[in-house]
Amino acid sequence: MLIGAHVSTAGGLVHAVERGVERDCDAIQIFHQSPRAWRPTNFTGDDYAAFNEAFAASQLQSVVIHAVYLINTCSPDPEIAEKSLASLTHALRVGDAIGADGVVLHAGSRKKDPLEEAVARSGALVREALAETESCPVLFENTAGTTGPLGRDFDELEMLVDAAGAGERIGICIDCCHLFASGFEIVEPEQLSVVVDDLDRVVGLDRLRCLHVNDSAVPMGANRDKHANVGEGEMGERGIATFLSEPRFEDLPALLETPGPEKKGTDAAEIARAKAFRAEGLRAR
Ligand SMILES: [Zn+2]
Ligand SMILES: [Zn+2]
Repeated sequence: MLIGAHVSTAGGLVHAVERGVERDCDAIQIFHQSPRAWRPTNFTGDDYAAFNEAFAASQLQSVVIHAVYLINTCSPDPEIAEKSLASLTHALRVGDAIGADGVVLHAGSRKKDPLEEAVARSGALVREALAETESCPVLFENTAGTTGPLGRDFDELEMLVDAAGAGERIGICIDCCHLFASGFEIVEPEQLSVVVDDLDRVVGLDRLRCLHVNDSAVPMGANRDKHANVGEGEMGERGIATFLSEPRFEDLPALLETPGPEKKGTDAAEIARAKAFRAEGLRAR
């Protein structure tokens, strides 16, 4: 398992590599543009070359990109749809340029629109973004919430995969905090095992390319997406240890996106704790 974290690209793409190394990560996740604005970052060939050189010389073995949350692939509003397409395409281009293992995507909220229509719009938009780019995969992430976020369960993830063409460039990312908040019982190894069986049956484990490892600040089934530091939330040390030691997750990047001790993101101490929880989980099995 490649344990790592979401890290900032402040100061330039290449600095994400340093931040990953400082935290003793095996994998990193970055945003492709500022998460607060639609404007894409204009990276140059030099930016990519510097990143790729530093990455190759580092201990890092995987980089994934997180698409910004502004994107809503199922929006019926033509302006939002157009901006979402441009932003997702940009994320995939950056992914192609740095050899990312995927662009993790929250498909977006359908609000009160019918599910089938929203999924069809999402699929069409994702297929368009794939057609305009080379090889970087799109990884639909499971979600939590009450405002109609697509991907709250495995059936919805499978619908998204299908609508996007179900090709080799379509995968999924599973966030344990979102699972837990959406009501999945995953704290004990036997419980998680049943959930992973379901995931395999409905979507197929060959689609699973990435994990997000966050504790949940809200109780199981609370339907809110609120991350806590690993071991400090409602999943607790036991739940995080279980998730990090699931045998079928062994080869995947497992990325923390936690608030951190000072709300500045995951730090080195928390990465060390995650690795210790994993060791604990493996011992307990
Ligand atoms: Zn996540
Ligand atoms: Zn989340």
